[in-house]
Amino acid sequence: MVAEQLVPRGVDDPRVLEAMSIVPRHLFVDPALSSHAYQDSSLPIGEGQTISQPYMVAKMSQLLELKGDERVLEIGTGCGYQTAVLSRLCRRVYTVERIESLHERARQNLRRARHANVMLKCGDGMLGWEEYAPFDAIIVTAGGFASDVWMEQLRDGGVLLFPEGQDRAHRLVRRKKSGEEIIEEQFDMCTFVPLLEGVNHR
Ligand code: SAH
Repeated sequence: MVAEQLVPRGVDDPRVLEAMSIVPRHLFVDPALSSHAYQDSSLPIGEGQTISQPYMVAKMSQLLELKGDERVLEIGTGCGYQTAVLSRLCRRVYTVERIESLHERARQNLRRARHANVMLKCGDGMLGWEEYAPFDAIIVTAGGFASDVWMEQLRDGGVLLFPEGQDRAHRLVRRKKSGEEIIEEQFDMCTFVPLLEGVNHR
């Protein structure tokens, strides 16, 4: 996966490549799909949601430019795979999922894969996670438009990374908070499941 899907497409941060080669992706997908876990695509994880393609997980992780001591907020835990990769790249990951059954499954997956520096919450990520703000980085793994709260919960110098757009046509956007200024950069076109408001008790 690393040699065929990530390196040729420009993922070159050695810490990201190491994390991608260590985290057992097959433990995060349904056992019936585990033989497809390392293929070059997203896969269903239940409740109409998906685990992102390996390249997208790696690319987003690289764009956060983590050095190891950061506190990162993730919106959209899903099955917890991106969470697990991030947890190897920073000090602590705080992750929020709006669908209760996925939140519970991610908790089990992360426990099985022995990731201890992760805190999970079932809630609406549009509200961020006030209690633990400010964060060094915020990553959103569902597509839509940014909530103002995210920038407020970012420390000065921190970065927000999210897929912006609607109807499954998104573009990766990185916004850096620099004093009163916000510096925006745009990256790959991509397709994510939609960012939705509120909590779903399924
Ligand atoms: N990073 C995940 C990708 C999961 S798909 C992985 O590696 O598996 C995106 C997830 O975002 C879905 O589970 C969806 O339910 C969740 N989501 C969408 N809107 C949300 C919101 N407002 N708050 C929290 N989670 C949200």
